[in-house]
Amino acid sequence: MTAEPVIDGQDSPTAETAPPTVRGSLSPSRAADFKTCPLLYRFRSIDRLPERPTVEQARGTLVHAVLERLFDLPAAARTLRSAGDLVAPQWDRLVTEQPELATLFAEDDATGPAEFLRSATALLDGYFAVEDPRRLEPAEREALVSAVVDEELLIRGYLDRLDVAPDGALRVVDYKTGGAPREAFEARALFQLKFYALVLWRTRGVVPRVLRLLYLKDAEVCDYTPDAEELLRFERTVVALWQAIEQATERQDFRPRPSRLCDWCAHQALCPSFGGTPPPFPAAGAGDPLTDARSRPATPGADE
Ligand code: SF4
Repeated sequence: MTAEPVIDGQDSPTAETAPPTVRGSLSPSRAADFKTCPLLYRFRSIDRLPERPTVEQARGTLVHAVLERLFDLPAAARTLRSAGDLVAPQWDRLVTEQPELATLFAEDDATGPAEFLRSATALLDGYFAVEDPRRLEPAEREALVSAVVDEELLIRGYLDRLDVAPDGALRVVDYKTGGAPREAFEARALFQLKFYALVLWRTRGVVPRVLRLLYLKDAEVCDYTPDAEELLRFERTVVALWQAIEQATERQDFRPRPSRLCDWCAHQALCPSFGGTPPPFPAAGAGDPLTDARSRPATPGADE
């Protein structure tokens, strides 16, 4: 797909024009948190408990950065080798911007950092096995997209890549770099892609033709084609989810919902399902509902 302007505006009901009174905001990661486990949502979005980055998350961030920068190069130069050449400089940049990443490896760990960079490079092999970036001109990379739904809920998030075809067809692409079992996270990944599809539909008036998950570790592509009716239903789900979050906040009642995903949860020690006790509910409640940002860590393997 190439970066042509979008021309199809036919099947949007009410694209966002003027900003109405927004009561809250929701990102796909936080919405998926609540869906997965209300208590996990509370820990992340209300208590705002810190989470140490894991090696897997850091690798995901690095590979995303490399793939974003790769498209800065002229098309003919976007080779596996030039992508590999970006790995170390991008890692240096990330560590400068986020010094906590440097703590992933012990000072006397002689092989850890090199192995880490090697494993990130190996994921690029997976990328090049399924796509040829010399033939692509993405319209957007790491782009913040947002829309207001139900007249008062701002939904927003960063999509990895958006391709626009000459006929205006949209393809939303999400890179998955996690090593976690795919079946544990696929529903969550698709939920996030539908979230972006809904935002694009509401803002551009086009239902994306393809939602694409690129699993770099397995070098596999998973394409999904949404339709307007499905996105309408999805919008109702998102609004209902937000209402449930508001209600839970009002009652200060966020219950644990144990599942396989608990294995990747950083807060087991505070979770009643694992014998822990959550901290007192913050007096200020949920804080500023408009500050739900991507700087918050995501569930490893689900939103790298
Ligand atoms: S350990 Fe499981 S049930 Fe407990 S907060 Fe984390 S995800 Fe929820």
